[in-house]
Amino acid sequence: MPDFPNLLEKNRTWVQAKLSEDPDYFADLAQGQRPPFLFFGCSDSRKCMNSMIGSEPGDLFVHRNIANQVPLHDPNVQAVLEFALLNLKVRHVVVAGHTGCGGVGAALSGLEEGAVGFWLTELRELAAQHRDEIDPLPELMARANRLSEINVVAQLRNVLLSPAYLKAREAGTPPTVHGWMLDLSTGLIRELELPVDDWRREGLL
Ligand SMILES: [Zn+2]
Repeated sequence: MPDFPNLLEKNRTWVQAKLSEDPDYFADLAQGQRPPFLFFGCSDSRKCMNSMIGSEPGDLFVHRNIANQVPLHDPNVQAVLEFALLNLKVRHVVVAGHTGCGGVGAALSGLEEGAVGFWLTELRELAAQHRDEIDPLPELMARANRLSEINVVAQLRNVLLSPAYLKAREAGTPPTVHGWMLDLSTGLIRELELPVDDWRREGLL
């Protein structure tokens, strides 16, 4: 684990490596951003997307919070969606969950206390709606991982219901949505099958 002074040392080493490849790298980067992807992920420290998918500066517009929530009432999330979809005009929106998510586990166990408990209110409700499917699973980890998958789909549905997505759709430029599950025990990302037929029937796509 790097200690604090090493972080800045690593930054200087990284800058030198970039400049040795391309002396104009940072001059170009400073010109502006046009990321093709909006990425919603959990704050979990193990989820290091630049390492895991090889993304570079300028690739991902990112919002992260505990348990990768995309609440319709959250101004932070809605501002990110508005700017990414209507100004940056991203082409893809990814919501990425992961195995062993502490936030999902806390919601499943019914945590209500503190700021985290408050943040997880909708996820607790989602867990309650899917009790019949989740409860029979034999292990706590399996129950949490299944809720993580259900959560990704629910958050993507929130993307489709957001004012920003509706405006992008009206303008004829809606992004494509994707659901990912990162398996922290293998490092591999799995793309989830999404209920696109249901969403079409609901008029969301
Ligand atoms: Zn997590």
